[in-house]
Amino acid sequence: MITRNGIAVSPGVAVGDALVMGSEDFRIPQRFIPRRIVDQELERLRQALDGVSTEILENERLANEALGQQYGAIFGAHLQMAQDPKLISEVELLIKDRCYSPEFAASRTLRKYARQFQALGNAYFAERAADIYDLEKRILRHLLGEQRESLAELTQPVIVLAHNLTPSETAGLKKDVVLGFATEVGGRTSHTAILAAALEIPAIVGLGPFLADVSGGDTVVVDGTSGEFIIEPDDDTLWRINEVRQKYKSVAARRRQMRDLVSETKDGARISLMGNIEFPQEAEQCEQKGADGIGLYRTEFLYLGRDSIPTEEDHYNAYTEVISAFKDQPITIRTLDLGADKIPGWIRRSYGDDSNPALGLRSIRMSLHDMDMFKTQIRAVLRASVGAKVGIMFPLVSSLLEFRQARLIVREVMEDLEEQKIPFNSEVSLGIMVEVPATVLMAEEFAREVDFFSIGTNDLIQYTLAADRSDPQVAKWHNPADPAIIRMIDMVVKAAKNHDIPVSVCGQMSSDPRCVPLLIGMGIRQISVSPHAIPEIKEVIRNLTIKKAESIAAYAKQQELARDVESFLNRELRKLVPENVK
Ligand code: PEP
Ligand code: MG
Repeated sequence: MITRNGIAVSPGVAVGDALVMGSEDFRIPQRFIPRRIVDQELERLRQALDGVSTEILENERLANEALGQQYGAIFGAHLQMAQDPKLISEVELLIKDRCYSPEFAASRTLRKYARQFQALGNAYFAERAADIYDLEKRILRHLLGEQRESLAELTQPVIVLAHNLTPSETAGLKKDVVLGFATEVGGRTSHTAILAAALEIPAIVGLGPFLADVSGGDTVVVDGTSGEFIIEPDDDTLWRINEVRQKYKSVAARRRQMRDLVSETKDGARISLMGNIEFPQEAEQCEQKGADGIGLYRTEFLYLGRDSIPTEEDHYNAYTEVISAFKDQPITIRTLDLGADKIPGWIRRSYGDDSNPALGLRSIRMSLHDMDMFKTQIRAVLRASVGAKVGIMFPLVSSLLEFRQARLIVREVMEDLEEQKIPFNSEVSLGIMVEVPATVLMAEEFAREVDFFSIGTNDLIQYTLAADRSDPQVAKWHNPADPAIIRMIDMVVKAAKNHDIPVSVCGQMSSDPRCVPLLIGMGIRQISVSPHAIPEIKEVIRNLTIKKAESIAAYAKQQELARDVESFLNRELRKLVPENVK
């Protein structure tokens, strides 16, 4: 049994068979075969091994010719391994005795040897382990041919283990077959993490290297609430995990009672608690959890997980679905935040690669660059918003000029609709995400022109503290409790107050129960959180008074170090909600 701890990003516990995504994403279709086809499967293995040998010999010849014998010899060693009788008979035995599929038997055996080499802990042996993984890939390629299956085509329940999953891959996961997932990289506010929570799939990211320790079909546990990841748990551990599950269930039952209670502090201050969504279907989920509206609809997910540009009708239908779940309540639709990690291959191809995507042609910059795409979206939002309380929000705005250009486009689209006599909502409010430090510094000027602010702490933290939101190595820098972030939020709140416009927080900071008293104490009265966090955050709000929140904010603002703010907020949360489990 091996236990590791990573960053818990989507709550819940999953126990199941591992599906290890290799760098080539081979999926081993099945673990067992019927006994009657064992001979046939042994023959398939032999043919695959012959194919592998031929391929390696060809590589050896090419390397000899182009680079010289010393390089060709590398493949000589691979060939020896591929033809090693002991290795082959071990794989065959697993097929004959245990009815393992050849893919599973080969992968399991080779990974066992690779792990043994790695455990010897020196660079030479680590290279041999890499050679074995290479051989595993070759064998699997020959066994599976072209029938590699994508994650979207899974049919049996599994726990997906990967070095990384892109937001597009994550968006395509099917909840009924993917019980959970765990990745080596990724941070708390990465889009992959946000999506996992949206799909309600228990998930852990940022575990560091672990794929070498696990084979496809091993039993694994993903505790997406605590961040604990276990390979081949023993019986005692499985028993304990079951108890943890029960505990989570009883907390969830307590929190369900929050649904019909108002989101207000003990002394009666109303805090508008809204949901962040990625998919239209989540609007319903937010409504059921007792949200006051949608504070952030990340529409770029209409583009991910598909291979063509959505039409105006695709946009319109998605927005109509969200609006119908919240008829009289506010809905903030964010225009496309495509770019950085959220970009399907077909769009990337037409724009070329950014050398530094997080600082590249992203979000509102991309929308203003591709007017047709932008106008299509705006038309659909305006049409869908008739009779509803809709705000249009522009992401990653970094200068006043950008906002003015975007506003001009909205006006142009309104004129077109008017000419065409197509009904639309002319009252939509126009606001911006505050997620670039430049925008914070210019908050007073922005507040004169925009209808509302929404602070996107995920990006604001990454750009202020130069800490990539998806890189677990810098997770401790990507910290909402950093005094610099607190000061920035303070500046934005003050500017909003001076110009009498609403300001909310929609980054993951507002889904963190420790940060909510601080935000309220700083004057925030609207927050938008992940749907799963709505009950927990409502519970925190209902246990708080404005006086208490203000004293928490006052103390936090005096601190010089993030770690002092963090431990203070932890202590205060324990006092406010002693039953809080984490
Ligand atoms: C943010 O940056 O805080 C935010 C809410 O936007 P996203 O996470 O979609 O980048
Ligand atoms: Mg953002």
